[in-house]
Amino acid sequence: MAVSKIDFNCPSCGKKNRVKIKNIYSNEDITNILNRDIFKIECTKCNKTTILDYPFTYVDDEHIIYYNMEDTIEDNKIKRTCKTFDDIKEKILIFNDNLNDIIIEYIKLFIESELKKENVFSEVRYDSFINNELRFYVINKKEYANIDYSFYENLITKGKLKEVKDAAVIDANTCLKYFHL
Ligand SMILES: [Zn+2]
Repeated sequence: MAVSKIDFNCPSCGKKNRVKIKNIYSNEDITNILNRDIFKIECTKCNKTTILDYPFTYVDDEHIIYYNMEDTIEDNKIKRTCKTFDDIKEKILIFNDNLNDIIIEYIKLFIESELKKENVFSEVRYDSFINNELRFYVINKKEYANIDYSFYENLITKGKLKEVKDAAVIDANTCLKYFHL
């Protein structure tokens, strides 16, 4: 198991701690990743818990996601790079629901453009797949937008997906490089 040691100074008591952190997580760790428990480190002196955000790699049967890490694993799995925690959280949710993240980013752009017509300017995030609907969170409205799964299927059938080489960043800025209707 890939583990590394890092030093951190406790923000409460100043004690220098050396802690072991895992570098690789799997889908068994999803809950602890999503609720950020993997980042909780307890000081050995004062027992206060600190959040220590560190780079790691997420690996499941079909995907490898690098969170602020270089692409180092030789594998034919789908590879992605994420630079913020919200990005990797969303990516894990998408892959765990067996969805294509390029199509999901495309749908997010579609929702954002529809919202603009109602003068709502907001980023949306993938949330979940429930009752045959894809649910997205509209951050500025604090509401969900639901898209029927058939809309997703239709895009997959009618659109053209380009192969993604290496561990690319797939987000609103890049998804149109890899998908068009
Ligand atoms: Zn401490």
